[in-house]
Amino acid sequence: MPVDRKSLDSFLQNFAGVDSYEKEEKSFAKRISTYIEGQKWVRRPLVMSPAICSQYGWTCKNSNLLECETCGAKLCTPEPKIELYDAYKACIEKILENLKASHKANCPWPITPAPEYLVKMPSMPKEESLKYFLKRLKPSLEFQSHFPHIKDGILSLLGLEKQHVVALCKLADIDVDDANKFGESAVSLSCTGWTLKTKGNDEKILLSCDSCQRSIWSKAFNLISNEDVSVSQNSKDLSITDDSPRKVKRLKKEDFNPLDEHRPWCLWIATEEDRHSFSCNENNPNSESTEVTNNIPGWKIFIKSLLGNVDEPQESELETTPSKEQIRSVKDLLETWSFIA
Ligand SMILES: [Zn+2]
Ligand SMILES: [Zn+2]
Repeated sequence: MPVDRKSLDSFLQNFAGVDSYEKEEKSFAKRISTYIEGQKWVRRPLVMSPAICSQYGWTCKNSNLLECETCGAKLCTPEPKIELYDAYKACIEKILENLKASHKANCPWPITPAPEYLVKMPSMPKEESLKYFLKRLKPSLEFQSHFPHIKDGILSLLGLEKQHVVALCKLADIDVDDANKFGESAVSLSCTGWTLKTKGNDEKILLSCDSCQRSIWSKAFNLISNEDVSVSQNSKDLSITDDSPRKVKRLKKEDFNPLDEHRPWCLWIATEEDRHSFSCNENNPNSESTEVTNNIPGWKIFIKSLLGNVDEPQESELETTPSKEQIRSVKDLLETWSFIA
């Protein structure tokens, strides 16, 4: 697998020291949270997403004002009406330019923005994707009774087959019984950026994405561990009174869709094209691009690399091991020789 510039950057970043890498990630996340708190930035186009603005050191003061966390410069970010599209586009282009240009003299952000891999999913060697996969999966296992049901069809959409799930669970030291129980959920979550965790002193178990900082209470979804209980309760309820089906219906929860729950700009779902989109709608009018490479979401890049750890060996490798027929014919030959001798 050829190493591209981005993987190399991220490798060197790691190599420079885990400390600086973690510090960088933390301060980036802290800036992102200023956009999310109070939903100050929700209607903004993806081209000026919280990630893109944070990459250049900006924190969000209010929906019309950013501030550099280092030099204290202020950047006005008016919200023009999209109906006047030309004026709207020009205004946003100006803001994008100012993300670099509006810092005070000597502020480091224009020259050394936060690394690209915090804004978009890099392609990476399989060892690295496995490391990140396990980094999410292992701590999630502590809350294994909170693994949600994954929405039907997601596993195959992700390109994950049963054998991948089994092999990835094995790499994570999950035993066969547990893998059968919650393996599909655990693997799908870790493959798409989700970790089960608690926040602060709160006892709620949350499904969290570190990139877009989406956190959702796990109990908002159907949990695998509740299945047996609710099935027996439902059947009991049904046998007792007539109005219980309605009750059951009201309590019905959704299965978890690990792609839909990210924020639209999150590196797990956004494509290169999204990052250049001036539209604030998720279904932007430019989405019929002919350039396929610009349309690859982060999860696809990650899973492709991850499956390198568990995929069947290539055919060329198989050919190097002799088949049963080959062995048998050699054996026959040897026997013939010994007979002649
Ligand atoms: Zn600055
Ligand atoms: Zn996310």
